Amino acid sequence: MSDTTFTALVTTETQEWQKSFRHCQPVAGSLQDSPGSNRLSTTIPVGLDRSHPKFRSTDYRRISGMSEELKRLKKSYQNRDRVVRALTEDTALRIAVVQNTRTVQTAQQRHGLSPLAAVFLGRALSGASLLASFLEGEERVSVEAMGNGVVGRVFAEAMQVGEARGYVEHPNASLDFGRENAGLRDGLGIGLLRVSKVLYHHREPVVGVVDLQEGDISTDIANYLIQSEQIRSAVLLDVDIDQDGKVAHSGGLLVQAMPKVDDERVEQVEQNIRELRNLTELWSTGYKPEEVVRMVADSPVNIASSSPIDFFCRCSIDRFKSALVTLGMDELSDMHAKDQRKLVCQYCNERYQLSDEDFDELFESLKTGR
Ligand SMILES: [Zn+2]
Repeated sequence: MSDTTFTALVTTETQEWQKSFRHCQPVAGSLQDSPGSNRLSTTIPVGLDRSHPKFRSTDYRRISGMSEELKRLKKSYQNRDRVVRALTEDTALRIAVVQNTRTVQTAQQRHGLSPLAAVFLGRALSGASLLASFLEGEERVSVEAMGNGVVGRVFAEAMQVGEARGYVEHPNASLDFGRENAGLRDGLGIGLLRVSKVLYHHREPVVGVVDLQEGDISTDIANYLIQSEQIRSAVLLDVDIDQDGKVAHSGGLLVQAMPKVDDERVEQVEQNIRELRNLTELWSTGYKPEEVVRMVADSPVNIASSSPIDFFCRCSIDRFKSALVTLGMDELSDMHAKDQRKLVCQYCNERYQLSDEDFDELFESLKTGR
């Protein structure tokens, strides 16, 4: 099989998705299935019940309350967005699966995204989180698609430590899918995909740019990995929108074949991915990322990490002020005179308001050069 055929795989509606369940095996070590997890529901220590003379009602409330809190924490952990990274035991494939429904829902709420814009940003956020899962610590990767279509520019950035953020140039963009030959590719149109990595021990970001191939983000990221990084890769990104136009589920899958892996193995994995149908349907029926990893690998795997993900931006009024100082005294004085106090973070849509004290501080630091 040539390198170019192991590319983005778009699931087909006609396939029987149940077929893929033959690959499914129980997840060992997940919080849900852990034999030790019952301890979280213990409310009263052994030998100390309400009839015990030393037992006080306040203790009961405290212990009981703790248990409820632990239960809540356990439930919230189980439902947290995560990216799972794994390597097959024979080291032939590395696999990452992201379940990031809440992250994409937050992105949609923060930016007030139309369904179409949410699909594009959700896919880009998934792609960025998948790529970031192979990095370290605060190394980060951005995925930026720019085209002449209705959504314009889509930007998503993720760190290995789990933060993800992004935006769409035209948040209200929509398409008439009833039109002949209309498709998702019209959202971005003709343009470029730019992937940028900020890595430890690199002075400059490592940047790769390729033409948009399908404009669906999935194919485009796979194409970037093959063209720019020369890694045979399959990418599957999926955002499901409900009847109200809100994000219902979101997820993504990235499989990379190591050099010298034979074509037969790659073809089998491709087939496994095709049989998955779509990730969002798996999330809606309770499947976990680890299970998807195993379904795709169809061979023993070592789970390397399972990291939480959140929509999170490091912006703050102080960061804005540090940037504003670079504008210089004239421009800042002009802003103050025109009462231009509102600041909006492009990445997360957080709004800030500059006070007179903030302006004083800015003028002072310009005067003193600090
Ligand atoms: Zn922000």
